[in-house]
Amino acid sequence: MDDPIPDLLPESVRTPPVIPSCPICGRPLKGKQTVCCGKCRIERSRRREAKQRERDAKVRLLLTEALELLNEGKERGSSSDY
Ligand SMILES: [Zn+2]
Repeated sequence: MDDPIPDLLPESVRTPPVIPSCPICGRPLKGKQTVCCGKCRIERSRRREAKQRERDAKVRLLLTEALELLNEGKERGSSSDY
């Protein structure tokens, strides 16, 4: 068979072993660490809280809007139904 087998498979070269890295600073992690140090752990929880707060604010805003719409519909509906 004249099937040329390349010495270097580019795809195998492009897939380096996955090294877990700190999501905060990007430094490589050891063992089962999820962040590299206490500083990054604090930063991670701070970011998580900020994200949560942001989401809560969004939900609250949407709920307020939804309630306003509901009230609008109710008022309009009750007046036209009556
Ligand atoms: Zn870190």
